[in-house]
Amino acid sequence: MQLNKYKFDQVILLFFLALCLAMLGLLCRSYQALSLFWPCNSLLLGLLIRFPRFDTLSSLPAIYLGMVTADVLYGTPFIVSLGLDAANIAFIITGRAILLSPYLTRTYPRRLQALIRVFPASVLAAAVCAVIGSYTGQRYFHDNLVQGWISWFCEQVSTSILMLPLVITFPRRDELEQMVADVRESNLMPLISLLVSTLFGIYVGGGGSLIFPLPALMWCAVSYPLFLTCVLTMLTGITEISLVASDVLNIQGSDDFFRIDSLASARLGVGAMTISPLIVALSTTANKKLVARITKRADYDFLTGALTRSGLSSQLDALASRRNKQNGFYGAAFVIDIDRFKNINDTYGHAAGDHVLAQTVECIRQSLQQTAIISRMGGEEFLVLIEGISQPRAWLLADRLRKSIERNSIILNGQDLSITVSIGISTLNITDAGSLDESIKHADEQLYIAKSSGRNRVSPEFVL
Ligand code: GH3
Ligand code: MG
Ligand code: MG
Repeated sequence: MQLNKYKFDQVILLFFLALCLAMLGLLCRSYQALSLFWPCNSLLLGLLIRFPRFDTLSSLPAIYLGMVTADVLYGTPFIVSLGLDAANIAFIITGRAILLSPYLTRTYPRRLQALIRVFPASVLAAAVCAVIGSYTGQRYFHDNLVQGWISWFCEQVSTSILMLPLVITFPRRDELEQMVADVRESNLMPLISLLVSTLFGIYVGGGGSLIFPLPALMWCAVSYPLFLTCVLTMLTGITEISLVASDVLNIQGSDDFFRIDSLASARLGVGAMTISPLIVALSTTANKKLVARITKRADYDFLTGALTRSGLSSQLDALASRRNKQNGFYGAAFVIDIDRFKNINDTYGHAAGDHVLAQTVECIRQSLQQTAIISRMGGEEFLVLIEGISQPRAWLLADRLRKSIERNSIILNGQDLSITVSIGISTLNITDAGSLDESIKHADEQLYIAKSSGRNRVSPEFVL
């Protein structure tokens, strides 16, 4: 009962929203036969994406009724309203189908995924809408079909690209705080340059002047939160279209004293256009570098430079995909643990312990071939994976490694310190996700045996 009432309220709300937005569009009709802006379609479409609770079966009839009511109240004959608003509802249905289609990438949350498709959704929805709209225009007003299609299409595409992102990115309550903090921290220069370049465009005129704000918009895009960027692009777009429509912005260009000629305007416009991809490219490059740095930080242990657990698994994944997954990773796994390491910490201090850890890993690295994978499992315990090695060879290699660590001199406070390790070995046959864990478990059991039988040794023992 409660639920039904809730749904009923939503339907009523959508009806009135459609009615008001359609009225708003109808009021903009004074310029031409077609509305200068018909924000109704894209705003309502965006609403269904941004607030999924509105996206129900009863939404479309409610929206359609709202639009028809507005048209009839405005004086459009009922039968014509049915046709015109069929075009509008077709826009919403087509746009929704493309924005929420499950057949495209699924890597982003619903909203961002939809945002990436704003362009194709706007173009296709506008095309479908223009077919029905221009047909209605031809039938009842004897308009030219092709011209009708073009003006419906252009208006719908431009309004949709301006409005849709704004509604889709409208911040949720939990995002609002972060957004306000981001805005507070950001600098005003991009916004000022947007204002200056738009005003400069109005002053200069000519076809190129429309593109003058582009670099500033790009700068805003890389500096401000997504929603604010959408607000600024929408305002700039609406301003330019309104100024052109009211002849304040003269895109024909003029050669009078104050304005420069149209070629000069085009030159400046092209300049503005070509600098814009550069701004995007620079920002993308900086982002990629940052991601690479963060990944490195997450994949390698800061103290020793050995792989972390996550680094190990991504390295193994990369190896597997490089050689086509079928061939597994065969060889040996060593689990190496420093003997009585706690004593070093207790005697020489934690910093000295860190130094010993780093030196030991360096010694392991020097003693093994480059293809050996060295990872820090935690504390003073390391895992080494060596590919393509038989068990007897693995034992020989491990024992050689043990001896070189014992011989390796680490100077601490002027004293030459010798440390020893115990090593557990197991065969390695990584064919699925669980098999590495299985090998580590066996090597760990062997390490325990090595420790309990006196340390500074390799287990299982192998006698030639
Ligand atoms: P065993 O021969 O049985 O392996 O004895 P152990 O003292 O090496 O082993 P235990 O596990 O008792 O102690 C390991 C110590 O390693 C305890 C912990 O404080 C120290 N440790 C772990 N991580 C770090 C590190 O990053 N830096 C330093 N300095 N010490 C660490
Ligand atoms: Mg130890
Ligand atoms: Mg240990």
